[in-house]
Amino acid sequence: MKRFKVLRVLSLSLFLLSAAVGWAEVRVVATTTMLADLAGVVGGPHVAVEALMGPGIDPHLYQASAGDVGRMQNADVVVYNGLHLEGKMGDVFAALNRQGKTVVCIADGIDKADLLTEEGGIPDPHIWFDVRLWKDAALELARGLGEADPERAGDYRANAENYRKELDALQDYITEKVKEVPEGQRVMVTAHDAFNYFGRAYGFEVRGLQGISTAAEAGTADVRALADFIVERRIKAVFVESSVPRKTIEALQDAVKAKGFDVGIGGELYSDSLGGAGSGAETYILTVRANVDTITGALK
Ligand code: ZN
Repeated sequence: MKRFKVLRVLSLSLFLLSAAVGWAEVRVVATTTMLADLAGVVGGPHVAVEALMGPGIDPHLYQASAGDVGRMQNADVVVYNGLHLEGKMGDVFAALNRQGKTVVCIADGIDKADLLTEEGGIPDPHIWFDVRLWKDAALELARGLGEADPERAGDYRANAENYRKELDALQDYITEKVKEVPEGQRVMVTAHDAFNYFGRAYGFEVRGLQGISTAAEAGTADVRALADFIVERRIKAVFVESSVPRKTIEALQDAVKAKGFDVGIGGELYSDSLGGAGSGAETYILTVRANVDTITGALK
């Protein structure tokens, strides 16, 4: 009899424990605002998401603080972009992996054939500006969350599938807006090469003053070459970026002026982060729409 009672108490506590686990939120720490947004959408009410980098923060140069490392260690799932976007955090992710943490590298969900590379084979990490690739990112995140929380894997998958439909609508929006810009004017000059995927997907020629990372500063030769290009092509506007200092692009504008041509600043683009609170671009979808509106508005 006594044994039965022990068993009953044991099974009851196991039941309560599993219920408690079932209700618990999955704690997700994502590096960038884009990834935090995606984790919130795919995770839905089951996850509590925190972003390490706020709006306007440059991920190429970002170094994890001791507090960040602690937050990642306490999380159930860590999400990062990969392809060296978080160029100074590689060791941190490797250590978390060794500890057995569920670490989701979103770039793993992108087909290698879809990746752009710079000279020397260095991959371009700015995959989020091709909405088609971000649809794959949603699936990769659902897979990762499902690995950490298998009971709700189906929910994550369903959330990702629903979101992919919203992203299809976003694709249609971009395609329509781009038609407003005459084909010869579809040239984007920006502070750094964050828009190559955007350019490939939507038919823009893209020139960045700095390379695909902001780590190497643009030299005067780069500024001169790009100024020549702008004058030659009679480009109406260049763009500043939310996560790169304005002076970079202003130096370019001055160099163009010195050659007797005027190029306007077409507005600020969100490049490596979403817009902050009150910007109207707080989500990935709103950020992409804001960029597309800024680009087409300045170049048409
Ligand atoms: Zn970048």
